[in-house]
Amino acid sequence: MYLLKEELSILYRKSKPCLNSVICNRALSGFTRPLARLIDQFEQLPGIGPRTAQRLALYLLRQPEETTQAFAKALISAREQVGQCKTCFHLSAEAECEICKNPTRNKELLCVVADSRDLLALERTREYKGVYHVLGGLISPMDGIGPELLEISSLINRLNSEETKEVILALTPSVEGDTTSLYLARLLRPFTKVTRIAYGLPVGSELEYADEVTLTRALEGRRSMD
Ligand SMILES: [Zn+2]
Repeated sequence: MYLLKEELSILYRKSKPCLNSVICNRALSGFTRPLARLIDQFEQLPGIGPRTAQRLALYLLRQPEETTQAFAKALISAREQVGQCKTCFHLSAEAECEICKNPTRNKELLCVVADSRDLLALERTREYKGVYHVLGGLISPMDGIGPELLEISSLINRLNSEETKEVILALTPSVEGDTTSLYLARLLRPFTKVTRIAYGLPVGSELEYADEVTLTRALEGRRSMD
C-alpha cells in the first residue's frame, strides 16, 4: 500500500506538478484524478463544502454528455460575455444594462448599492423604479479599500450630467456600510438630495438576504442625510 502511494505521487509529479495538496490527497483516497479536480473546483465556490462539492460533481457526471456540454458552455460564455454597464456598473452583456436602457425607469432617483447582488435584491421587490449605481464594494481601511478603488468619481460624473434629484444610499448596516454612507453623504450633498434607506435589519446583515417586504419598507422609510 505504501509503495502504491509512493508510485502514485511520483506519477503525479511526472504528469503535472500538483498545485493543490487537497487534490493529491483526494486522488489517493478513492477519487480518480479528473473527478478530484472537478470536486476541488466546486469546493472553491462560496458556500460549498466538501460534501456538497462531491455531490455536485457526481451529479454532473451522471448527466447525459449534452447536458454537461451545455453547462460548461453556459459557464464559459457568461464569463466571456458578461461585463459591466458603462453607466451604472451593474453586470451586463451589453455596453449599457437593461435598467439603464429602460425609458420607463425614473432617472431622477439614483440608488447606490455596494454590488450587483444588492441591486438584484432591490429589483426583486418590484417597487423601486429608479436607476442604480454599483460602487463595487465598500470603503474599508482595514482591507486597504479606499474611496479611489470604488466607482465614486463615475457617480459624481453622473450627477453632473444626469437629471438626478435624489440619491438613495442602500448600503449594508455595518461599519464599512456606515463609513461609506457618511463619506458619500458629505460628498454628494452639494449636488443633490441624499437619503439613506431605513433598516429593519440587524446590524451587519447583508442586504441581499433581506426579504422583499423588509426591503420595500426600508426604501419607503428612507431618511434624509442632512
Ligand atoms: Zn446600467
